[in-house]
Amino acid sequence: MSVDVAIVGGGYTGLSTALHAAERGLDCCVLEARQIGYGGSGRNVGLLNAGLWLPPQDVRAKLGGERGARLVDILGDGPSYVMSLIERHQIRCELTRSGTIHAAHSESGLADLRRRAEEWERLGAPVRLLSRQETAEKIGSDAFHGGLLDARAGTVNPMGYVRGLARAAKAAGARIHTGVAVTKLSKQPGGWVLETDQGRVTAKSVILATNAYSDGLWPGLKQSFVPIHFFQVATQPLGARIARILPERQGIWDTGQIMLSLRRDAADRLIIGSMGAAIGGAKGLSERWAARQLRRLFPELGPVEFETAWHGQIAMTGDHLPRIHRLAEGLYTPIGYNGRGIAPGTVFGKAMAELLAGGKEADLLMPVTDVRQESARALKAGFYQAAFAVNQVIKSF
Ligand SMILES: Cc1cc2nc3c(=O)[nH]c(=O)nc-3n(C[C@H](O)[C@H](O)[C@H](O)COP(=O)(O)OP(=O)(O)OC[C@H]3O[C@@H](n4cnc5c(N)ncnc54)[C@H](O)[C@@H]3O)c2cc1C
Repeated sequence: MSVDVAIVGGGYTGLSTALHAAERGLDCCVLEARQIGYGGSGRNVGLLNAGLWLPPQDVRAKLGGERGARLVDILGDGPSYVMSLIERHQIRCELTRSGTIHAAHSESGLADLRRRAEEWERLGAPVRLLSRQETAEKIGSDAFHGGLLDARAGTVNPMGYVRGLARAAKAAGARIHTGVAVTKLSKQPGGWVLETDQGRVTAKSVILATNAYSDGLWPGLKQSFVPIHFFQVATQPLGARIARILPERQGIWDTGQIMLSLRRDAADRLIIGSMGAAIGGAKGLSERWAARQLRRLFPELGPVEFETAWHGQIAMTGDHLPRIHRLAEGLYTPIGYNGRGIAPGTVFGKAMAELLAGGKEADLLMPVTDVRQESARALKAGFYQAAFAVNQVIKSF
C-alpha cells in the first residue's frame, strides 16, 4: 500500500490524526497492532477533562508565557471540541456533560484546589470550588474536604469514544487496519517504508501514535517516558441502590498522591480505580481494595458484587508536559499525556493533521523537540510499581 500518511497506533491520537487528515484530503492509513482502543484509549477512566494535569500557571511557567497560555487556552476548550466531534459523528459513548470534580482528600489537597480554582477563575473558566457540603451532596459521600467542579468537562465511555473515532475516520476515507504490527521503519527518498507483519506500506509522512504502548519500533522512544499502571474495578449494575451516589454523574478523581478515581456509568455501575496494576483480576486483591474503598466512601451502600477489573499503562514525563518529537524528516510522535489524554490526544491528533496538510511546525501546540531518555526510568518505574502495590495491599484491609 502507498499512502500520504501512515499512522501507527489506533487510539485517540492516531484516529484523530486520521480523521482530520482524511477530511483535509490526505490519503492515510492507520496500522494498529492489536484492536482499536487496545492501549490507554480503551482502558482509561473516561474523565473528559480540560487542560493538562498541571495547573495553568505551572504550564505557563514551564513553557513560557505565550506558548503556555496558548496551550492552556486550546486544551481548556478540549472537552468542548471532543463533544462537538461526538455530536457531529453521532458517536455512542455515553457522554455526560455535567462536569468533573477534583475532590480534596485532605486539607492540603483543598489548598491545592483553591490555587487551581483562583487561576481558572482569573482566566474566566467555569470552574468553581465546592464547599464540603456541596461536595458531599454531589458525590454522595462526606469523605472529602471540598471539590473543584469544572463545568467544561464531562465523562465518556472511553472505548465507545475511540471506536466512534475509528468509524468517523473510516467514513472520511482513512483506511484502518487492525492486527497489523509495524516492525521496522526505513527512510527512502521522499518518504518512509513501514515493514509490518503482513506486508509493506510506503508513506510520505509517518505519525507514531503509540504513546505509553510504544515498543522498540523507534530507538529510544520507549525510554523517553516513565510507564505507570492505573487499574479499575467495575461493580455490577447497582440500579436504585446508588441513587444518591453521583446523582448528576460527574466523574471524580481525588488529590491523593496515589490518586483514586470514580465514575458511575450509564448502566449504574460504579467504576473505581487507582494507580497500580490490577492484582488478581476481579476476584483478587484489587476487588478487596475496591470493596474497602466503596465501604469507606459510602458506608450505607452495603456489599456489592464486582464484574471485572483491568489496568492500562500511562506515559509520565519528568515535567508532566506532553511532547511532540520530530524523530526524523517526515516522522513525528505526540507522546506523554501524563494520564490526561482524551481531549489532548484528540486535539494533538488534529494538530498533526494540520501540519501534514501544509501547516507549520511553529503552529503546533508544543515546541517540536528531539527524543530524550527519561533519567533513571527503570528505577522510577520499579519504585512506583512497588509503592502502588504496597498501597493496594494496605488499603485492602
Ligand atoms: C487506566 C488509565 C486511565 C486514564 N484515565 C484518563 C482519564 O480519565 N482522562 C484522560 O483524559 N486520560 C486518561 N488516561 C490517559 C489516556 O487514556 C491516554 O493518554 C490516551 O488514551 C492516549 O491515546 P493514544 O492514542 O496516544 O495512545 P493509545 O490509546 O495508548 O494507543 C497506542 C496504540 O498503539 C498501538 N501500537 C503500539 N506499538 C505498535 C506497533 N509497533 N504497530 C502497531 N500498533 C502499535 C497499541 O496497540 C495501542 O493501541 C488514562 C490512561 C490509562 C491507562
